[in-house]
Amino acid sequence: MDKKHHNNLSLVTHISDEVIHCTRCQLCHTRKNAVPGEGSASAKIMFVGEAPGRFEDIQGKPFVGRAGMILEAALSKANIPRSNVFITNIVKCRPPGNRRPKRDEIAKCRDYLNKQISIINPIIVCILGATAYSSLLGGKEITSNRGKLLNINGINYFLTIHPAATLYRRSLLRVLEEDLLKLSKLIVEQ
Ligand code: URA
Repeated sequence: MDKKHHNNLSLVTHISDEVIHCTRCQLCHTRKNAVPGEGSASAKIMFVGEAPGRFEDIQGKPFVGRAGMILEAALSKANIPRSNVFITNIVKCRPPGNRRPKRDEIAKCRDYLNKQISIINPIIVCILGATAYSSLLGGKEITSNRGKLLNINGINYFLTIHPAATLYRRSLLRVLEEDLLKLSKLIVEQ
């Protein structure tokens, strides 16, 4: 393990510890486990979803339920090993009943994501779905903007749909797969 990776790992672990003990918002009262995120501390791609669901809350790991299986299959089709990327969410604790995270919950959690992005310093931050798009970039309409690469304040963001969206519209699976393939090519070019 090189020195930079080792240093990143301890900084990322430090943030994970903070998240695990976080009491900044009301979600700490209803969570089973906080879900800081997981993956390589020197990942070239960081994925950002919305918030942990039921299985993520139980395991303390991101994208391990149905949406996670879809993401993992699409990653594997694009030849992106899950262990090479970092996966996290806008909000690190499960909102009860899987409701959308509230504005103040997103605001209070934001600092953790900012720190994760600045330490890991990925080549591309891949935004999964509308909540991450609006929370992180103030964007609307993920479906018409998906597949785009944006550079905002020196950070590259790639936009795609949330894997769970494919559960409601099967035809979106192709869209997710195409986008992740495009993302894998962009990484080689950057
Ligand atoms: N959906 C998300 O947005 N994040 C997860 O971790 C799981 C499902």
